[in-house]
Amino acid sequence: MPSPREETVPELKRPVATLWGVGPERAELLKRLDIHTIEDLLLYRPRRYDDRRYFMRIADLQKGEPATARGTIVAMGLKRFRHGTKSVFEIVLDDGTARLHCRWWNLPYMQNYFSQGDEVFVFGKLLQTKPRTMDHPETEVIEGGEESFVHIARITPIYSLTEGLPQRWLRGLIWRALARFEGQLDDVDQPALGRGLQAASTTVARATMKRPEGRAPIHSREAGSLPSRANAVHMIHFPEELSDVEIARQRLALDEFIELQMQIRARRQRFEANARALPCGGDNHLIKPFLSKLGFKLTESQTQVLREIRADMRGAHPMRRLLQGDVGSGKTVVAACTALMAIESGHHVALMAPTEILADQHFANFKKWLEPLGIQVEIQTGSRKAERSESDAGGKRMIFVGTHALFSSGFDLPRPGLVIIDEQHKFGVAQRDQLVRKGDYPHVLVMTATPIPRTLGLTLYGDLDISVIEQMPGGRGRLNTFVRGSDKLPEVFKFIREKISAGRQAYVVYPRVDDAGDKELKAVTAEFENLKTVFATFKIGLLHGRLAGHEKEAVMAGFRANEIQVLLSTSLIEVGVDVPNATVMLVENAEQFGLAQLHQLRGRIGRGAHTSFCILVSNAKNPEARRRLRILEETADGFKIAEADLKLRGPGQMLGQEQSGLPKFRFGDLAEDLNLIRQAREWVKGERPRLAGGG
Ligand code: ADP
Ligand code: MG
Repeated sequence: MPSPREETVPELKRPVATLWGVGPERAELLKRLDIHTIEDLLLYRPRRYDDRRYFMRIADLQKGEPATARGTIVAMGLKRFRHGTKSVFEIVLDDGTARLHCRWWNLPYMQNYFSQGDEVFVFGKLLQTKPRTMDHPETEVIEGGEESFVHIARITPIYSLTEGLPQRWLRGLIWRALARFEGQLDDVDQPALGRGLQAASTTVARATMKRPEGRAPIHSREAGSLPSRANAVHMIHFPEELSDVEIARQRLALDEFIELQMQIRARRQRFEANARALPCGGDNHLIKPFLSKLGFKLTESQTQVLREIRADMRGAHPMRRLLQGDVGSGKTVVAACTALMAIESGHHVALMAPTEILADQHFANFKKWLEPLGIQVEIQTGSRKAERSESDAGGKRMIFVGTHALFSSGFDLPRPGLVIIDEQHKFGVAQRDQLVRKGDYPHVLVMTATPIPRTLGLTLYGDLDISVIEQMPGGRGRLNTFVRGSDKLPEVFKFIREKISAGRQAYVVYPRVDDAGDKELKAVTAEFENLKTVFATFKIGLLHGRLAGHEKEAVMAGFRANEIQVLLSTSLIEVGVDVPNATVMLVENAEQFGLAQLHQLRGRIGRGAHTSFCILVSNAKNPEARRRLRILEETADGFKIAEADLKLRGPGQMLGQEQSGLPKFRFGDLAEDLNLIRQAREWVKGERPRLAGGG
């Protein structure tokens, strides 16, 4: 009996333990699968499907090919060996065409699940044919009775389980829950969603039909109809055709994306309702002289992006804009111009970088660029504190450059009109939000060189407008990338010595396992000693996360001044560092880095007029790892690389799950569902996106 209190809770939101047949013990097991409510149960996605309408004759099973068969147990037994420490349990199935041996090594308790005469489904790969044998196949004993039609003679869902939870029981439970509750599914959360979706669905279905490759082909249904949510949930568990599964998945993924976009939009609307913008459009009286003394002309892309930014800075709501541009595309100058707009309009600016090295570099650049214009530039990092007189007398407009220390550590930042965040992904979404609260609604420009695949951009940064610098500044030397085995290291070192003798500088990058770890520190230090011998006539610098701020600074300053010719570093230098004379980069154990990260790393070179060389050294025996690295030999397009990385490693790994702030999807697939994400976004906006994200 539901208690009176429960009656106010929608049935789908009630604990799964309120279902008939789910006792406290089973409820506990379901919890391990993250199934808490009835809705969780209905949305629990099968791991795969077994087509039990047809199965292979045992005689027809092919070695190495996964297949489903069924047969009767004609023999079974457990053998122990090595004084009872090892065992193998075996059943022999017969289906009238042949016999199949199924073995489980060191799982003696398997014998409790079978009896002689049982009829059994097996799914697995034939290991050998004499005798026909499968090791550790998936099995399910076929039982007659009421619910047998749930489990056999159909496309049957197979779920991930946890120990003690039988496949058959869970499937039966879901079947019964569907029968009772699936009608309520359309009404969950957003009644309006169901209606609106029909419009969105139409386009999605069309997009789906056109899909040229990839998932299983969609079998024809009337154009323009995705199933209802209830139907989709039913189909995801008990599809009539395997092709239904993808249709259902898309419908459910669309729901997830719409829900997320609604949240994003709600957040943005709350923000716009509460936040008024400071007029920061500027009047060009500083930008003009700045650009004329810069020494190069802005690219068309940079100019276009600045136009978008200026429109925001003049607008009614504070700017929330993401600036994407591949490494070396020239985001810093754009940041400087944006800062000048705010300063022209009489406001302070804060520029936040993810590392001290980068903050130092920005500080140096901004000082060089802006102090001649009478603008005061200050730095605030963990190790460097702004020396600022109590009242910045004279009303001089200032730029504060720093790390996150700018916004913590009790530093009394005068209210900025503009906050610029460089290399945004290093901060994560949570920190971004924190910043907005602190900053009293300044304009915010976030910049990232991580070429975020569009799917992720629209999801992660759905509440930001996006500008992209698509063009690289001209006058750059070529950047060549090579993948080499570590047996080639002597030649690689020789090559680097030649380049240094010709006046260039080199980075040697050592993988960061954990930049705070002792083991890794030892490894880097050993490598440092090694390099001292290899490059005996040159000066080597060492950079790692354990150095104090001023030590890092000293090393970087030495490298910038070419007093240090070879800089050995952990992936610390990944972001932003700009030393145009450095034209060689050697990355050791390259297979330990993600592709996007390697692309970032090599963005440190190829910044001057000289041809640059990135050598990725890998010991990986695994040909897959080599192939992955080859992508970097083939393309310099950061977006392509990011998409490849996303597909290879998934978004969590690519961005770091906890850092990324990515929501977890049951059905949505960020690497594949760009179309659905767009549909969701357009539908929620009720309009075409102003500036569709990505490149
Ligand atoms: P990133 O986008 O990776 O932050 P930077 O802003 O560090 O790139 O710029 C890389 C280099 O290109 C810098 O040395 C910068 O001065 C130079 N640069 C930027 N814009 C241009 C341009 N329009 N023409 C020539 N050089 C440029
Ligand atoms: Mg940069």
